[in-house]
This record gives sequence, C-alpha cells and structure tokens, in this order.
Amino acid sequence: MSLHEVVPGVHAWVQPDGTWWLNNAGVVADGGQVLLVDTCATETRTRRFLAAVEQATGGGAVRLAVNTHQHGDHSYGNSLLPATTVIVGHEHMREGLRVDPVIDGCPPLWQPVPDWGAVTRRLPDVTVRDRLTIHVGQRRVDVAHPGGPAHTTGDLVAWLPRERVLFAGDLVFNGLTPLVFMGSVAGAAAALDWLAEFEPAHLVPGHGPLLTAAEITPVFDAIRRYLRLVRDTAEAGLRAGLTPLEAARGCDLGEFAGWADAERIVPNLHRAYADALGTDVDVVAALTDAVTWRGAPMATKV
Ligand SMILES: [Zn+2]
Repeated sequence: MSLHEVVPGVHAWVQPDGTWWLNNAGVVADGGQVLLVDTCATETRTRRFLAAVEQATGGGAVRLAVNTHQHGDHSYGNSLLPATTVIVGHEHMREGLRVDPVIDGCPPLWQPVPDWGAVTRRLPDVTVRDRLTIHVGQRRVDVAHPGGPAHTTGDLVAWLPRERVLFAGDLVFNGLTPLVFMGSVAGAAAALDWLAEFEPAHLVPGHGPLLTAAEITPVFDAIRRYLRLVRDTAEAGLRAGLTPLEAARGCDLGEFAGWADAERIVPNLHRAYADALGTDVDVVAALTDAVTWRGAPMATKV
C-alpha cells in the first residue's frame, strides 16, 4: 500500500488488491492543515496510513476527516484519529456505524477472520444530509450525497472543484465486483451519472486503482453493465420463483467472472429482490448465502 500524490498536496492511499476490507483513503493538505477521507479497517492498517500521512504532510494537524460511508474498511480506524479531529459523515452513515455489530467481532464469513485490533466505534461529530463545504487552508472540499441510496444509504463524496479531484468512496469499484446490497441497484447506477457530471480529472475509487479522466467512462460503463446483469437476473429469478442464491447459481457472470469478489452477485441479488419486493435485506443472511455460493468463506487479505 502506498500514498500517491494525485495533485500537489492531495494524496490517495491505495491498498492493493482492493478486495474485501482493503479500501482506498485520501489526504487533502494545505497551510499546515489536513483533512482525511476515510480511515482503514484495522488498527495496523490505519496506523500505517496515519504514519504515511504524517510523513507526507510534515506532521500537519489532522483537523477533519470525512467518512464516505459506514462500512468498517472506511470507518473502523476513526478511533485512532486524534481526539481533536472533527469527523464528518452522512446522517445515515452515523446511524449505520452506531448499530454495526461487526466492529465488536467479525463473524466467520471471511477467511482468515479479520482481527480489527484496538479500534473502537467512533461516530461522526458532524452529520450531513445533502452537502457541506469544508475549507482546508486555501483548498475547498465539497462534501455531497448522491441524493438517495446507492452503495449504502449514507454515501458521501469529497470533491475538490479547483483541483478536479473526486474521492468517490464505494460508489466506484475499479476492476472489482461492485457491492450494492446495503444500498440500491438502481440508485448505484444513477449515482454513476451523478458522479460523471463532476467531470473529474482524477477519481479515487473506494477500491482498486486510481482513475484519470479518460479512464472513467469505460469503468463506469462496465459497472452499469454489471448492475443491469444484477437487475435482469433478479427479475428472471423472481418470475421463476427462485431464491437469490438459486438465481445467483444460474447466473453466467460472463465478462465479470474475472472480477475479484465475484460472490457479491449473491448479496447484490438479495438487494435487487428487496428493491423489487419492497422488503429489507437481512445482511448476515445475504453474506451467508455468498459463502454458500462460494463453497468456502470469502477471502480477505486485511
Ligand atoms: Zn463499502
């Protein structure tokens, strides 16, 4: 993992290979002040990130951090930030992390079972419903919500309009299977249209390699095709009276079979079913079905 300088003073922390629990994060520094975009899942990985931040910013004060969403790979490290750091998150993100049981002990759905280390639940101090502008030295950072459920119900992006850098969180998975089971299939597709309107010069996805302007459209198009496959498979499965797991077993992933974390087809179908039926997704049941589909616990390198 390493810190990439996207433009001077703006960095992306990229953790290969971007699979389960290995997220990207961000750093915006100016005038001795620092804003972070997300933390990491474990104590070890967050401390490594914070050491790199300290080195890159000359020990600048981490005054603010934005959580792009509630998932632990982006937020469990919050508790390792200085007590003086003000954390910003969407109001639904705050509630999601407040009731997240996984931080108290990861269920054996992944192999090896992640050990978070000495992290505790630290919720945002400031919540956002729609948008908010933060000033870091001379830099402007617009924090914005896509307008509805997408990757989760509480997604935020961080946009630097002058530098044209977009921290997209998990609204974008680059080269890995997207995950939408705690959000919305249609909302995730709509969020891509919304992201494209920013016309970023640089995009930091939540997982996978960084993107420059010309690379964004093909990646978004592939995600759209994947989401259509999820929707179409769910519609056919519902007509045939199949469970999401049965529908997943009959689904040919085609061009997406090579994407890591392919078992996400199962929780994604749980979401598509729930969207169609107006029900909720049982998160643990959806992930347990993914393990069944795979025939083994899901793989993580966290
Ligand atoms: Zn996520």
